[in-house]
Amino acid sequence: MERDYRIETKCIQSGWHPKCGEPRVLPIFQSTTFKYDDSDQMGRLFDLEAEGYFYTRLQNPTNDAVAQKITELEGGVAGMLTSSGQAANYYAIFNICETGDHIIASNTIYGGTFNLFGTTMRKQGITCTFVNPDASYEELCEAFRPNTKAVFAETIANPSIVVLDIEKFAKVAHDHGVPLIIDNTFATPINCRPFEWGADIVTHSTTKYMDGHAMAVGGAIIDSGNFDWDAHAEKFPGLTSPDESYHGITYTAKFGKKAYITKATAQLMRDLGSIPSPMNAFLLNIGLETLHLRMERHCENAQKVAEFLQGHEKVAWVNYAGLPDNRYHALAEKYLPNGTCGVMAFGVKGDRETTVRFMDALQMVAIVTHVADARTCILHPASHTHRQMTEEQLKEAGIEPDLIRLSVGLENAEDIIEDLKQALALI
Ligand SMILES: *Cc1c(COP(=O)(O)O)cnc(C)c1O
Repeated sequence: MERDYRIETKCIQSGWHPKCGEPRVLPIFQSTTFKYDDSDQMGRLFDLEAEGYFYTRLQNPTNDAVAQKITELEGGVAGMLTSSGQAANYYAIFNICETGDHIIASNTIYGGTFNLFGTTMRKQGITCTFVNPDASYEELCEAFRPNTKAVFAETIANPSIVVLDIEKFAKVAHDHGVPLIIDNTFATPINCRPFEWGADIVTHSTTKYMDGHAMAVGGAIIDSGNFDWDAHAEKFPGLTSPDESYHGITYTAKFGKKAYITKATAQLMRDLGSIPSPMNAFLLNIGLETLHLRMERHCENAQKVAEFLQGHEKVAWVNYAGLPDNRYHALAEKYLPNGTCGVMAFGVKGDRETTVRFMDALQMVAIVTHVADARTCILHPASHTHRQMTEEQLKEAGIEPDLIRLSVGLENAEDIIEDLKQALALI
């Protein structure tokens, strides 16, 4: 084991450790398969008796190095990459739930995850109760059922920018014997490490800040190793009793703190196959190397833009937790003392048509179905990402029909502000 470096150093140094004479930069092992000298060596890999690579759907050295870096950034014990954030959240739940089970999720989560939990997983017999993230401990307790297996929420909700009281959610989950799973996409481990506040598992859409350049869709799941599955063995038989599809292995008995990620790899990735290409993992790693620098600038620029918008007569409201009068400012100061992220929400005065005219008048700030990239971009969830939701569902998810989601990039803040200013002048 090497020294426990600070997070900026981990962004650069973690994951790939070349031996004497090996490439300095993480190589792209663009190979589906790996060669062995005798049949017995290969057989032991299939029995999970030896560690090694045999087929990229299960494991690949490039992917593993990047998963290891994210694991170290989050302070976890094991991690894996997936081909998208959607796959990460699906695996994170499906790894501990089966037909007949139930989960609890914040109702402000990303629209794609909301559909996954509310519609698609329901068809597989896993139901979800959506709760208000601001609900009291007692109100949250009411959502639990005997078959509840996990609680899920986002550190900073996309796009309503609700900051989660992670400790409250961790307590309610643990008091009911289930893990807290946190989607930490918007905060990134640079600004918040949910394990330090009691979360058990963290997921990411690496597509966002971690990649940071809008190049590769991807996801990650990281386990803290802190949840004691065996203490609640009857709830989690998939981890605590023999897996007949894997030679009768019991994951917790054989892999201890790595049981959860080993099962997700050996069973879910084997059967469902949402693996990223090594090329995409390589691109993600380049993004991770500058994550600490970029997050700082995203937050600095967003703070300036939020203050500008708040002071503008044609802007009806601004939601950015960095603003002192924001409803989530106190939670942000506690959980995200170095800044939240570059994403904010606001509304312009006028009707829906005014919103559309404002967006169409922007010159540099682009209308893009994306957030958290180096280029400033903007989106109107009610007409774009969340258009399948009813007005009522939008309101429940904290999304006003006039909500504009602005993702502040890494350009000069004055240029971003000038573009917004000229577009506001035209409405
Ligand atoms: C984008 C996003 C996802 C989905 O990730 P993809 O990489 O697009 O599949 C999940 N959670 C959050 C918070 C997101 O912003």
